[in-house]
Amino acid sequence: MTKAIRIHTNGGPEVMVWEDVPTPEPGPGEALIKHEAIGLNFIDVYFRSGLYKAPGLPLIIGQEGAGTVLAVGPDVKSPAVGDRVAYAGPLGGYATERVIAADRLVKLPDAISFETGAAMMLQGLTAQYLIRRTFAVKPGDTIVVHAAAGGVGLILCQWAQHLGATVIGVVSSEEKAELARAHGAAHTVVGHTKLAAEVKRITGGAMVPVVYDSVGKDTFAASIDCLAPLGLMVSYGNASGPVPPVDISMLGAKGSLYLTRPTLATYTTKRSDLERIAAELFEVVGSGVVKIQVNQTFALKDAGLAHAALEARKTTGSTVLIP
Ligand code: NDP
Repeated sequence: MTKAIRIHTNGGPEVMVWEDVPTPEPGPGEALIKHEAIGLNFIDVYFRSGLYKAPGLPLIIGQEGAGTVLAVGPDVKSPAVGDRVAYAGPLGGYATERVIAADRLVKLPDAISFETGAAMMLQGLTAQYLIRRTFAVKPGDTIVVHAAAGGVGLILCQWAQHLGATVIGVVSSEEKAELARAHGAAHTVVGHTKLAAEVKRITGGAMVPVVYDSVGKDTFAASIDCLAPLGLMVSYGNASGPVPPVDISMLGAKGSLYLTRPTLATYTTKRSDLERIAAELFEVVGSGVVKIQVNQTFALKDAGLAHAALEARKTTGSTVLIP
């Protein structure tokens, strides 16, 4: 047997139950891994609450982790037993041991700890595709990043600054503003009610070519108003709730805007893309350009407390769960 946090129904953090589950056997194309650390992400809240539909119940939530390969199924050539690995994507993460498709694992460089690996895969791969592919940030760009002191947010601030961009970070408190500035945000705005006016002031009226909005319902309209003509609205999360249906004629009226709702899954479907993105992430983390801030650690069995903190906006940077 192994230990896992499972949900048997959707609801608040209290639906997460710490229980024994049978240790899975790796089938063809699969690997059994022992987790050393598991990443906490807002998507875990969506699957727990029911905002995102579970493939079935009971469900082991969690989509990010790092650990050691214990066994591989027939025909798996890589990774090998004993390898240090990390992943982002497949559900089933909140467990001491898990089975996973071997082609979703990447080898974790020796210089990167299991905690950092578990903290950075989902949020870091997301930051990579957002600023390198969804909109390729270049020197001289001014960009808006919501939840700038959060997990994805702190990585975006550091990486975009390294690419030569000026980051306007949006946060909910002065304390978080300070943290975002310490990680590369040139400007910070507390709250979003006067966001467009602040962006207008900071950019001298030019507005910005891209907004990265992970907050969703509460900030969508304010974000749209920050864009320059032909600007790109990247709505990549729903921390405040899902964005209601949009009348697309608004995009024309606001300046022929573009709108995308990207997911990490699309950007890493091909193994070659996953390897390329992960290699770039390992490079910026290994060189110190991006520092992964693991600002909270919880025991896996206390995942409910971790969810409550994340939803109450009490966390900053990344959070890991230790089995
Ligand atoms: P964060 O650490 O950023 O935590 C969420 C933050 O959102 C909070 O700290 C808070 O920052 C802000 N927030 C605003 N309104 C609310 C609200 N009503 N309730 C709770 N938080 C709120 O989480 P992650 O780094 O794990 O994820 C960030 C976002 O990115 C999430 O929305 C997630 O779903 C999304 N995401 C999307 C991916 C994709 O591929 N599409 C992949 C990975 C993440 P503040 O207090 O400063 O407002």
